[in-house]
Amino acid sequence: MQPFSFLQATKPEAATEAVSANPQAAFFAGGTTLVDLMMLNIVSPAHLVDINGLPLTTIEVTGNKASIGANVRNGDLAHNRIVRQQFPVLAEALLAGASAQLRNMATTAGNLMQRTRCSYFRDTAARCNKRTPGSGCDALQGVNRNHAILGASDHCIATHPSDLCVALLVLDATVQTLLPSGQSRHIPIGDFHLLPGETPHLETVVQHGELITHIHLPVTRLARHSHYLKVSDRASYEFALASAAVALSVDNGLITESRVALGGVATRPWRSKEAEASLLNQSPSAATFLAAANAALAAAKPQTHNAFKIGLARQTLIRALEALTESRN
Ligand code: SF4
Repeated sequence: MQPFSFLQATKPEAATEAVSANPQAAFFAGGTTLVDLMMLNIVSPAHLVDINGLPLTTIEVTGNKASIGANVRNGDLAHNRIVRQQFPVLAEALLAGASAQLRNMATTAGNLMQRTRCSYFRDTAARCNKRTPGSGCDALQGVNRNHAILGASDHCIATHPSDLCVALLVLDATVQTLLPSGQSRHIPIGDFHLLPGETPHLETVVQHGELITHIHLPVTRLARHSHYLKVSDRASYEFALASAAVALSVDNGLITESRVALGGVATRPWRSKEAEASLLNQSPSAATFLAAANAALAAAKPQTHNAFKIGLARQTLIRALEALTESRN
């Protein structure tokens, strides 16, 4: 690990100033991704700005909006009473991720910013466009069982690892940030993560020195009727091979509104508006859910070793929709 300097920030403005002033600086919160990558020499920030002391640790509901502080730990968020009642998909996604120890350290904002688990990205002997732009991608011809079938490019096929972000997609979350200029901005979660295209090293729209301060969620009937299902090689402490976050409103026997998102299969948390369109005005049935799942995976393109993910993601989505529908009866 390379030497680095360390500053404990007490105000958000001071934190953004400290990071934006130094191109080699980075925010430090839970550290569950950053410290790993520093020990592997994948990233080597010269200056760390500790944001654990910032007052961004509350979960509040005001009117029809919930606000989650960026430093709320994943474990605290998963077990929060409001979250469990109003946003079950969020609690379920969090509890499906990592281990209890990691959830007690990892923060809400850090979850949004976590890096891919592509093994070539974490191996400095491998070629990786995400780690070293223009160097190539060893996953294309390598062991790509865990890689993406949606949203990939010729430059990168790595999946996004987050469960939380998949849930946030079906909750219409907005990410609030503080810019180094002192202004704040609000980013819809669907615009937050970037497709790899020709620049896979650019993963989000967040600028250097821009600090995530809150996640905002509308409190809705749709959000209360939501569910997350994850399929992975192990039941815990494992990343998704496929996951599905779903939310449904059903009136007079017909689906009047829905949200569908997939995890573990795409280069970014993947909302499927195709599946949502397929569900609209249909009765919740096996045929309806199969049609929606087919629509969600219609554009899937497998790599050499992961064609199984198409069927797995399809069944995961169907099971998630079935479970949500059964829980309402
Ligand atoms: Fe790097 Fe992406 Fe290729 Fe993995 S898939 S080696 S992260 S460029």
